[in-house]
Amino acid sequence: MDEPVRHNRLTVDLEAIAANLAALRDCLPPGTRVAGVVKADAYGHGLVPVARLLKARGCEALAVAHLHEALSLRRAGVEGTIYLLLGIWPEEAPLAVEHRLTPVTEHLDVCQALAAAGRSLGRPATCQLKVDTGMGRLGLPPGRALELLRRAAALEGLTVTGLVSHLATAGEPGCPQVAAQSRAFAELLAQARREGFPLPDSSLVGTGGALVPPPELRGPPGLARLGVGLYGGLPSPGAAGRARLTTAMRFTSRLLKVHRVPAGTRVSYGGTWVAPTDTWLGVVAAGYGDGYLRSLSNRGWMLVGGRRVPIRGRVCMNLTVVELAEPLPARGDEVVLLGRQGQDQITVDELADWAETIPYEITCSLGAANPVTYLGA
Ligand SMILES: *Cc1c(COP(=O)(O)O)cnc(C)c1O
Repeated sequence: MDEPVRHNRLTVDLEAIAANLAALRDCLPPGTRVAGVVKADAYGHGLVPVARLLKARGCEALAVAHLHEALSLRRAGVEGTIYLLLGIWPEEAPLAVEHRLTPVTEHLDVCQALAAAGRSLGRPATCQLKVDTGMGRLGLPPGRALELLRRAAALEGLTVTGLVSHLATAGEPGCPQVAAQSRAFAELLAQARREGFPLPDSSLVGTGGALVPPPELRGPPGLARLGVGLYGGLPSPGAAGRARLTTAMRFTSRLLKVHRVPAGTRVSYGGTWVAPTDTWLGVVAAGYGDGYLRSLSNRGWMLVGGRRVPIRGRVCMNLTVVELAEPLPARGDEVVLLGRQGQDQITVDELADWAETIPYEITCSLGAANPVTYLGA
């Protein structure tokens, strides 16, 4: 045998992502365009393969955090609108314009640099303006955003294609902060349109706002920036049941050892779990070094032989211990840490709940630690 055996396998089902895109579209007002959010290596699922799939399945645009991610997409031949959610520095404007990228910005100096690059390259430069309606992170308050819009729109060579804001508590039905944010955004857009700025690709909602639409948002359909839902996760438990989403990632390992320990045996670092009776244990070849979060210690479950088995003791760097039951699996058998096995499955939301985190962190962590194999598409 020439190749080492890989204990762990991370697979991404591209057809599941395509199905999630279709399911999310059904939740959006007719005519809404979708920007597929593929930042952070497509939430760990792989930047270029996911971007290609989304474009092939009709996604109108893509969104990344950093300029270098957008350049990777262009190098891979991905065309069409790409939003840069973190914006650019003024000196990056020629690069952004050359590659037809659309930065989201709140700075006049960036708008001026984009306009200048557009004029000198003889290419249309585009940007979107970021508005803070209550996230307290990026963006100008609505009044100042309107002033920036007037100045940016007056720059020759630059087109402002939309205003962008982000909901802090999306996905929670009836949330008053969502109502306040979407009202502020709708009022700003209405004012800007009265002043003659069409801003067709304005966007407020991500997955949470797609699943639980803020009723205060009126006006022509714009753009939705969809991330976590494409990968099968929910932004918050309150959004459960609004669309049928499928966990696109599957992470498996193998049993390195199956053994019986006597009552009183302490398991793993710190001895945080003690066998109450004679117990069968399995040692799984994955841990936090493989992206499987340590907060799953004594809390998470895995699938072995199609049945759920609990984690006992602390998750180690490359090992985790589970308690087994009859009929016993064998050394070398597959263990599913995320995804389906037999009739059962561990969803990304379930794993996130056990780990006291969000599905975003689960898939980013697994994706950063493991090479991805693709299924479908
Ligand atoms: C990441 C991000 C999104 C996508 O959010 P999801 O909850 O994953 O759908 C949308 N907009 C902005 C500005 C983001 O940073």
